[in-house]
Amino acid sequence: MRRILVAGNWKMNGSLADARTLVSEICRGVEDDATRNDGTGNDGGGIPEMLVCPPAYLLFPMAKAIAGSPVKLGAQNLHEADSGAFTGEMSAPMIAETGAAYVIAGHSERRRLFGETNARLAQKVPAGMKAGLTVIYCVGETLEEREAGQTESVVVTQMREGLKEDISAERLVIAYEPVWAIGTGKTATPEQAQEVHGLIRRELGERFGGSAADEVRILYGGSVKPNNAGSLLAQPDIDGALVGGASLAAADFLAIMRNAIAPR
Ligand code: PEP
Repeated sequence: MRRILVAGNWKMNGSLADARTLVSEICRGVEDDATRNDGTGNDGGGIPEMLVCPPAYLLFPMAKAIAGSPVKLGAQNLHEADSGAFTGEMSAPMIAETGAAYVIAGHSERRRLFGETNARLAQKVPAGMKAGLTVIYCVGETLEEREAGQTESVVVTQMREGLKEDISAERLVIAYEPVWAIGTGKTATPEQAQEVHGLIRRELGERFGGSAADEVRILYGGSVKPNNAGSLLAQPDIDGALVGGASLAAADFLAIMRNAIAPR
């Protein structure tokens, strides 16, 4: 049984004061719902696993802010080397030391604006896993690629070239994020998203075996909002959401969590 994961990618937004307010509202909402769900409030009960991915400089203060709550912490990027002369970069062991449990790799903004290739990501993904992090590996096609009928080949290539045999499927989450849906207000229909999620799951099965196909969570990302989360998450192969804009407002992020629990 795959537990739903709702991850907020804050990107390069927020001051320390904003982040403290946002995360404390999120923690309060998650704790209230967890308490209502299982009576313990400790492990989140039947609610989705909730994750926030702040800018790197906020990892330590956010780790402190979420201490004792079921909300988890993740980074938005990593360097593949453990240490060295890489000015401005952060390694997986450093990220793990902040208290983060997750790291995003291959977000389309990193691919497009910072030249991240599948080959580079094939080094970043195992580096994150080696440090004990769960890696959220992002894939997705541009509008031009979709219109040219290349969605399947683009996504399969990103899966094959970015994930090599040295990864551990237990520490892997995939995020399908059609580039044309990120920050645009255009969302893939639940059917469009399910089609690609099904393809990704088949690919996982062929590459890493049946248990990987059954257990690896595949998130959808691209203009997820409270009003569309329920129908997207109702699809059999959509196991959560990677949320950008709507994760910056606690009320919206919590509403996505609540709408994501609709029966599947
Ligand atoms: C994202 O940045 O991963 C994302 C999906 O953004 P948004 O929800 O704003 O489209």
